[in-house]
Amino acid sequence: MQNHSYIPSGIIDSHAHVVREFFSEDQQEVIERAFASNVKQLINPGINGDSIAELCELTEKYQEIYMAVGLHPHEASAWSDELKGRFKEALKHSKVVAIGECGLDFYYNNSEPAAQVAALHGQIQLALEFSKPLIIHCRDAWNEIAEIFDQYPGALKGVFHCFTGDPKTVEMLDKYGFYTSFSGIVTFPKAKELQEAAKLVPQDRLMVETDCPFLAPQPVRGKRNEPSYVWHVAEKLAELRGTTVSEIAASCSLNTRRLFGLPDPA
Ligand SMILES: [Zn+2]
Ligand SMILES: [Zn+2]
Repeated sequence: MQNHSYIPSGIIDSHAHVVREFFSEDQQEVIERAFASNVKQLINPGINGDSIAELCELTEKYQEIYMAVGLHPHEASAWSDELKGRFKEALKHSKVVAIGECGLDFYYNNSEPAAQVAALHGQIQLALEFSKPLIIHCRDAWNEIAEIFDQYPGALKGVFHCFTGDPKTVEMLDKYGFYTSFSGIVTFPKAKELQEAAKLVPQDRLMVETDCPFLAPQPVRGKRNEPSYVWHVAEKLAELRGTTVSEIAASCSLNTRRLFGLPDPA
């Protein structure tokens, strides 16, 4: 990998599942490797109630790590008042910066669509109650997401994480004013539509992420993904958008800090 230590802004991995489930042997090394590569901060999203304790622990250990609480659409059938209560309790923690990841995944349908919709509404209400942005996971459900968002006109803020839409999707979603975060998928040679979409997102709404341990970018595709690889995503965005990796890193860092209210460590 190229050396990016010369880039003053550093970069933020806006979505990294750096948890023991995936990094049991070398979690600490992976985190230290990220900071050594000039990743300045990272956000560890929630996926269920059981993950909260470990995420809190990590944010207490590392100043640069922030977290979100949320129920992944794959696990949406677990949504309940009891879980909502646990999320509310966790929201007292000062390093919880968002609700998510939550959303709709009609590609895998690991939970019933109706359960996914109910869990998303429940989490939107939490986001409104606690004035937090949403980290939205959406796969093959853009029209359904739009229908739900339209029930909260002008009230929502957040990011479409690991964006997989095409240029038309970018246009359709523009009115919501959300940020759009690109993962390693945008580096895959066959992801032509997504690459076109990446050229259209306004610079002040762009973010990058790894979504590690999944979806390692070219040229480390197939390996376990980790936050230091977020630079490969930034390099690809720079190439697609005809700009420099420094520009992309600076914009994405600024955007991520703005949405999640993170301090600028510089
Ligand atoms: Zn996701
Ligand atoms: Zn994720």
